[in-house]
Amino acid sequence: LASPDVTDSDPLAACLQTVFGYRTFRTGQREVIEQVCGGQDALVIMPTGGGKSLCYQLPALVLPGLTLVVSPLISLMKDQVDSLKQMGVAAAYLNSSQSREEALTIYRQLHNGELKLLYVSPERLLTDSFIERLHNLPLSLFAIDEAHCISQWGHDFRPEYAALGQLKQLFPRVPMMALTATADKATREDICQRLGIAPFELLTSFDRPNIRYTVAEKLNAANQLRQFIQAQNGNSGIIYCSSRRRVDEVAERLRQQGYRADAYHAGKTQEERADIQERFLKDQLDIVVATVAFGMGINKSNVRFVVHYDIPKSVEAYYQETGRAGRDGLDAEAFMLFDPADIGRVRHLIEQQEPGPQQQVEYHKLNTMAAFAEAQTCRRQVLLHYFDESASEPCGNCDICLDPPKRYDGVEDAQKVLSCIFRLQQKFGVNHLIEVLRGSKAATVVDRGHDKLSTWGIGKEKSHEFWLSIIRQIIHLGFASQDITRGSAIKLNPQARAVLKGEVPLQLAEPRISITTHVKRRSS
Ligand code: ADP
Ligand code: ZN
Repeated sequence: LASPDVTDSDPLAACLQTVFGYRTFRTGQREVIEQVCGGQDALVIMPTGGGKSLCYQLPALVLPGLTLVVSPLISLMKDQVDSLKQMGVAAAYLNSSQSREEALTIYRQLHNGELKLLYVSPERLLTDSFIERLHNLPLSLFAIDEAHCISQWGHDFRPEYAALGQLKQLFPRVPMMALTATADKATREDICQRLGIAPFELLTSFDRPNIRYTVAEKLNAANQLRQFIQAQNGNSGIIYCSSRRRVDEVAERLRQQGYRADAYHAGKTQEERADIQERFLKDQLDIVVATVAFGMGINKSNVRFVVHYDIPKSVEAYYQETGRAGRDGLDAEAFMLFDPADIGRVRHLIEQQEPGPQQQVEYHKLNTMAAFAEAQTCRRQVLLHYFDESASEPCGNCDICLDPPKRYDGVEDAQKVLSCIFRLQQKFGVNHLIEVLRGSKAATVVDRGHDKLSTWGIGKEKSHEFWLSIIRQIIHLGFASQDITRGSAIKLNPQARAVLKGEVPLQLAEPRISITTHVKRRSS
């Protein structure tokens, strides 16, 4: 169809081919470009790598005046402007890294009408002198990149974005396009409200079919990680941890195991961080162990796996972080280790915050994350549902689909655990309980005479991890609870009685001790 005649009568397709070198638009790109060229505001929601930049870069070339792009990161601005210049597009950026002379040159170009696209940081844009300048320029379009930064619902709120709400009032006739890879409805609505727009919305699918989602119960994290990494055949990946200390520990351990791994977090200098990012990009470093500080702006297409060593803050964050894997469209792994106790820990932290809307947001995020991790149905269905997309069929490419959880008659195992809690007079924590069940001769057991208890060793044929999983389920089901005020001692709840007497049936999930069976299945 792309005969010369068609492109002649189709300036958008012509520009796509001659400037960008692409034959066809991706889903939705043309519609949204037509809308803004016709003066409409637009909200573009596409997953990372979906092709958002083109949605404002192409209009910038077709429209008569200047397109102003608001972008939060200096490195991103530079990359974009460099590649635009290579295509022969008159683009520039203004930010705090430049000298006064450089800025003056750009101002001169601006007023001579020599630029089609200008990238600026929000704090630069909103200075009085710059706004004054803009009133004297032929503005065609505002593009707000990473627009979720304006919303506290989003995962990356930036105060300097909040002030962008004034733009629409200052320039009511200039169309505005907001772009983000953040998709949940609350954030979406919040962006529009804060920017003061009622836009045309482009919402493309968030499914990343090449990413295989796996959530494993965190039992022995160090071993589980080692097994997982071994199955990755030297491919490159990112491991997210919740604290700097954990990041350093895990990176060090991986180095000792012979991997090219390094730690990335906000405690490192700017130079160290830039160096890690560059080595990772150039494949001189295989694994980056990082806090969430490692993220936006990483444009490496062949990341083969993303591990969450600790639970992410929200489903949104999980989606963004796992989305850094497999941008090249080839198979990739998203592997998360989940300890139900982490939910309690985070909840406790939130409880200490000042009551109010922000606290409610945090509770909501945590609850949905917990629901995702605990779900017994297809991970992709749960994830897409969160983004208001429905996947009617189970995906066949997540741990639940590939290795459905099995249930078994758990009465006997539960009785062993509950009676052992009783014999220990409800005064001891999980680890001690497991030691006694498995017949340990450790001094902590023997010195207390616990090796003389009738329940000592009644679970010796099963592993530590097996019992950990069973005990967690028993707590989760409400037969026992952990007393945080008393050294996390486990005590029996009234419901335990019926189980101990064998009066009620009880189904438990078979603990999955070998956590990477389906990961390995593919590489073998
Ligand atoms: P996002 O900003 O959504 O993460 P980008 O704008 O960086 O994504 O685009 C991702 C990649 O897709 C880039 O390499 C871009 O050149 C390419 N791309 C965008 N639109 C098209 C298209 N219509 N045809 C082919 N490639 C495209
Ligand atoms: Zn699935």
